[in-house]
Amino acid sequence: MAITKSASSSATSAKRRGWASRAVIRDVEAGSTVDCAFCGERVKFQAKMRNRQVICNVYVKGHWDRVEHFHAECYERAGEPHGAIVGPLDQRRSPSPAAALRQAQAS
Ligand SMILES: [Zn+2]
Repeated sequence: MAITKSASSSATSAKRRGWASRAVIRDVEAGSTVDCAFCGERVKFQAKMRNRQVICNVYVKGHWDRVEHFHAECYERAGEPHGAIVGPLDQRRSPSPAAALRQAQAS
């Protein structure tokens, strides 16, 4: 987790000392009971829809503060408040699909 300081310029132009907020995208899991931080509605699991959620680890002044969940489309609508999504759907930043998959399965 230390040597990932490569081309990270565009989205996180704000102060970036130590930990910064991150956003990843995940499939919504069955039994999910979180609400979208943007629209306030439940982030629901629907087997046929394969919904995706954006999970953000929010850091305030370099310290972890909270986790926020968004519907994938709501995160975009909100203007990516915690930076660009890092994860399987963002092939521009993923080193390889395999690595992205490992990342997705890690948590
Ligand atoms: Zn939403």
